[in-house]
Amino acid sequence: MKKNNIKQLVNYLDEILPNAYCELNYNKAYELLIAVILSSQTTDKKVNNVTNILFSKYPSLEQLNKANIDDIYNIIKLLGMGQKKALYIKEATHKLLTEYNGIIPNNRALLEQFNGVGRKVANVVLSVLYNVSTIAVDTHVRRIAIRLNIADKKDSNYQIENKLMKLISKDKWSKTHHQLVLFGRYYCTAKKPLCDQCLLNNICKKDIL
Ligand code: SF4
Repeated sequence: MKKNNIKQLVNYLDEILPNAYCELNYNKAYELLIAVILSSQTTDKKVNNVTNILFSKYPSLEQLNKANIDDIYNIIKLLGMGQKKALYIKEATHKLLTEYNGIIPNNRALLEQFNGVGRKVANVVLSVLYNVSTIAVDTHVRRIAIRLNIADKKDSNYQIENKLMKLISKDKWSKTHHQLVLFGRYYCTAKKPLCDQCLLNNICKKDIL
């Protein structure tokens, strides 16, 4: 049953979101890392507004590292958890410069040593920067997997990630991840999902969340 549901979901996503991609804006690899760290508990749109200002004011890793933490806080505070996130930026830029010569490590364990980087952030960075096959489970991916009976409400995000990885072929993990995020953001929203026009109605337990 779950296999059939995932097949229907993946085919549908290919139909309505054939070119899904990460909607966070960045020009340099470290900017993506910072943007994904900042995206915790907020929207990509808000992050893009903030990073547009932050990365213009501090256009290099070195300049961002030297930035006053209070100024970083003032720029990013609208995202929530401003003090914590400002500290993450200071720590990440310092770590990148002192331990990695400014290069984002292509390694999950090393990425997860950065404060503010958990499994989801590491998965997004590895997938977008290094084309590593990953499925990052965020609030959208979680909600859709549960509604479509692919995962249980009591599952952790890690369990959902593993269930999805078992059901989806590895070469489609990253693409499906981006499709799921956009599907959750624009179609299968938490409140008022667009069920009338959704062709997954027959397999959906939409009332569960
Ligand atoms: S039917 Fe509604 S709740 Fe179910 S997947 Fe489609 S949009 Fe989401």
